[in-house]
Amino acid sequence: MRTEEPRPVRLEDYRPPDWVIGTVDLDVALHPTATTVRAKLAVRPNGSGAPAPLVLDGDDLTLRSVRLDGKPLPTESFVATPDRLTITQAPQRPFELEIETVLDPSNNTKLMGLYRAGATYCTQCEAEGFRRITYFLDRPDVMAVYTTRIEAEKSEAPILLSNGNLAAAGDIAGTSRHFAVWHDPFPKPSYLFALVGGNLASVGDSFTTMSGRKVRLAIYVEPGKEDRCHYAMDSLKRAMRWDEVAFGREYDLDIFMIVAVSAFNMGAMENKGLNVFNDKFILASPATATDGDYSSIEAVIAHEYFHNWTGDRITCRDWFQLCLKEGLTVFRDQEFTADQRSRAVERISDVRGLRAHQFVEDAGPLAHPVRPTLYHEINNFYTATVYEKGAEVVRMIKTLLGEAAFRAGMDLYFKRHDGQAATVEQFVQCFADVSGRDMRQFMRWYSQAGTPEIKVESRYDPAARSLRLEITQSVPPTPGQPTKQPMLIPLAFGLVGGNGEDLPLAVDGRPLSRGVLELTEPQQSFVFTSVTERPVLSLNRGFSAPIKLTVPIGADDLLRFLAAHDSDAFNRWQAIQSLAMTLLLGNVVALRSGEEPRLDDGLMNALETVLKDRALEPAFVALTLSPPSEADIAREIGRDVDPDAAFAARRRLRAAIGRRHSAVLAATYERMITAGPYRPDAQSAGRRALKNVCLDLLAMTESDAAIGRAFAQYQNADNMTDRVAALDTLMAHDRPERAAAFEDFYQRYADDPLVIDKWFALQAAIPEPATLDRVRALTRHAAFSAANPNRIRALIGSFAQANQTQFNRSDGAGYNFVADFVLELDPKNPQVAARLMSAFRSWRTLEARRRAQAEASLRRVAANTTLSRDVHDIVARTLADK
Ligand SMILES: [Zn+2]
Repeated sequence: MRTEEPRPVRLEDYRPPDWVIGTVDLDVALHPTATTVRAKLAVRPNGSGAPAPLVLDGDDLTLRSVRLDGKPLPTESFVATPDRLTITQAPQRPFELEIETVLDPSNNTKLMGLYRAGATYCTQCEAEGFRRITYFLDRPDVMAVYTTRIEAEKSEAPILLSNGNLAAAGDIAGTSRHFAVWHDPFPKPSYLFALVGGNLASVGDSFTTMSGRKVRLAIYVEPGKEDRCHYAMDSLKRAMRWDEVAFGREYDLDIFMIVAVSAFNMGAMENKGLNVFNDKFILASPATATDGDYSSIEAVIAHEYFHNWTGDRITCRDWFQLCLKEGLTVFRDQEFTADQRSRAVERISDVRGLRAHQFVEDAGPLAHPVRPTLYHEINNFYTATVYEKGAEVVRMIKTLLGEAAFRAGMDLYFKRHDGQAATVEQFVQCFADVSGRDMRQFMRWYSQAGTPEIKVESRYDPAARSLRLEITQSVPPTPGQPTKQPMLIPLAFGLVGGNGEDLPLAVDGRPLSRGVLELTEPQQSFVFTSVTERPVLSLNRGFSAPIKLTVPIGADDLLRFLAAHDSDAFNRWQAIQSLAMTLLLGNVVALRSGEEPRLDDGLMNALETVLKDRALEPAFVALTLSPPSEADIAREIGRDVDPDAAFAARRRLRAAIGRRHSAVLAATYERMITAGPYRPDAQSAGRRALKNVCLDLLAMTESDAAIGRAFAQYQNADNMTDRVAALDTLMAHDRPERAAAFEDFYQRYADDPLVIDKWFALQAAIPEPATLDRVRALTRHAAFSAANPNRIRALIGSFAQANQTQFNRSDGAGYNFVADFVLELDPKNPQVAARLMSAFRSWRTLEARRRAQAEASLRRVAANTTLSRDVHDIVARTLADK
C-alpha cells in the first residue's frame, strides 16, 4: 500500500550491483498456508569498491532466521522488514548467507511469487516476484546457478518441478512426504526461477536437436485435460525446429517442460526449462477452441520457447531493457507464424494489432519510448509499445541491413553476449559491427515516443520522365518529450505502372537494387529518372516502418491500381482500408449533424472484385472485407470523438455491404464450407474466417433469412470456431435467437471455464444500453470469480476494451462501473486492476460530455489514498497534463 509518493526508478541511475550471488540453493517445503523456504546464497563483493552494506529485496516476507557462514547472525548485525533485509556489517569477502522465510501461498491473491492456482502450487517471478519468496538481489543483472529441492505431501503434490534437469527424487523415509532436486546449470536472473507442485497429468514427447541430442518434452495439465495438449506439443516441436533453421539456435537442457495453470496474470512465462502458461494458451480441442485460440497457442508456445535464447541465455541488464527480450522475441514469433501460415495475412494481422493498441497508446497520456527511461511500477511497462513497437524496431533493422547482414548481426549477438545481461546498445552494436553502418540515428526509435507522421508530395514531369518526391517527417510531442529529432525511417516502396506492374526504379539513370528509401531529415526530396509513365505510388510496403503516412493519392488511383494490382499484398489491403476509412470519417460527421451517411460505389466495386478473385487467399479476403474498427475510427478522428457515431457509421457501412453484395456473399459462404472433420491448419482456418465474415455481413441486413442462417450455424456447428462465430454475429442483433443461443451455450459448456470465458466476453460486448446491467448481473453469476484473471479479462476487460459505445456511455455509468471494479480488485490483484484502468487512456480525445464523465471517474479513483503503486501510476499518468 502507498504511504508516500513513490520514488521513480531512472535509467540514468543504473549502477552495477555492489554484491553478486554465484549460486542459490533453495529448499522449499510446500504447505498450503505455511511454506518454508531456506535459501543458501553464495554472496561475494562485486569488484573492489568501497565497502557497502548488503541490501536484499523483499516483498511481504516473514523472516524466520538468518545465518552467515553457518552461524546465526546476531540481531544487531541486520535489519529485517517485510520488504528489505539489510546486513549492516557484511564481510568484504565471499560468504554464505542462509535465510529462512515462511510464506502463505493460499492467500497470495496478487499471483506474484509462490501462489496456488486451484490446488496447484506455482510461481510467477517476472518482474519482481522472487522477492516474495526469499530476500534476494532481485535484479536481472545478478545471474546465479540454482539448485532447488522441493518437498511436499505425496497426496497433495505428487509432481514437483523446477528449472533445469532432475538431479534426485524420492520418498522421505517415515513420512508421507517426498522430494525432488532440480539443478539448472545455466546462470539466470531470479525472474526466471520457477517452481511447480501439484497433482498434474502430463503428455510426453521428444525432440532431437540439430546436433543429435535427444530432449524430453512434457506438458503438464490438470488430470483429464491431456487430450487437449496435442496442438501445443506439435507447436512446440515446430518452434524448436524453426529456431534451428531460421536462427541456428539449439535447445540446451535435457528436458523442456510446460505447465498450464488456471490462474495467471499474464499469458505465459519463459522460466528456464519450465515455462508456466495460462491454460488458455495450452488447452485446445476442435470442440472447445476456435481457430483464433489455435493460432494464439502456436504463437505463444513459440514466443516462450524462443525466449530460451532471447531472454534466458541472453537476458536484460535492467528492466529498462525489457524490449531487448520482448520486442526481439515478438519479432521472432511473428516471423515463425509468417513461415508456418501466410506471410501476407500475418503481416496484416500484426499491423491491425499494432494500430489498435500501440498507436493508441503512443497518442495518449501513457505514451512512452520503446525503452523507457523512468518508471514507478515496472509491471505497467509490459505494453504494446515495448512488445509490438519493439518488434517493429527489430524488423526495421532487418529492412535496413537486408536478410544476410541481419542474420550475421543476430549470430554475433548470440556469440558475443551469451550468458550475459545485455543492453539495447550492445544489441544494436552487433548490427553496426557486421554492416559497418552508423546506427546512432536509428537508436532514436528506442528513445523517442510517438508515432512518426510522414507526408509525401509527388510531381511527375512527363517531358523529363522524372518523378520527384518531397517527403517530410515529424514526431508529435509525448509526455516528457515536447520536441523530437528526425528519425531514420526505412520506407519500402514501388512505382506502379498503368498495366499494374511495378516500373523499374532508377535515380540519375542508375538502377536501384531495392525499393527502400531511407528518410533521415525533416524534409527530403528524391528524384527518380527514366520513369516512362505517370506512376501510382505504393509506399510503406509491407508496413516497413510503424508510421502514419499521408499521401495525396486519389480514390481512383487507390482503386484502379493499388486495390486491384499492387504486388504488395499488404498495400492492396491497405488501399481498401484507406478508402473505407475516408468514407467512414465523412459519415461520422454526417451522422453527428443528422444527415444520412454516404455510400461509395468505388469501394463497393473494389470489395466485389476482391470477393470474386478466386486466386486470393480466403484469409486475405476476410481481412479485406472487415472495415476499420470503431477504435481505428476513433484514433483517426483523434479529438471530439463520439463513439456512438463511429459505431453507427461502421454498422451502416457493413449493412450496405451486406445488402449490395448479398448474392455473392451468400455464394461465397456456401463455397467456403469445408467437408470433413475440423482441421486447425491455416488454409482451413482461412476458409472458415471468410465464411464467417460473409455470415456476419449478411446478418447486418437484418433479414430473417440471414439471422436464421446464423442461428442454424450456431446450432449445427461441429466445431467451436463456427459456433462462436455464429454467436458473435447473433450478439449484435436483439432477436429471440440471440437469447436462445446464449442460453444454450451456457448449458452446453457450463463445466468448461475457458469456454465460458467466451460466453462472458460476448455478452459484455453487446452494443446496447442494457449491457451494463447485464454485465453487473454477470459479476454475481456462479461461474464468475474476481480471483481469476481470465474471468476478469473476459467480462470486465471485454466491456471496457471491446465495447466502445457502452463503456463510453454518455451518462458516465460505464466509467463508474469499471472504476468501482478496479477499486475493489486493487487490494487483491493490483496488476490486473492497473491493466483494466488503462481502458481510460483515450479519455482526452472524447467529446466534451464523455470527457467530463471519464475525468470524474479518474479523479475519484485517484483520490483513494490506499491505491496500489500499479493503479496509482496508471491513474496519475492518465490524468497528467503532459
Ligand atoms: Zn515474452
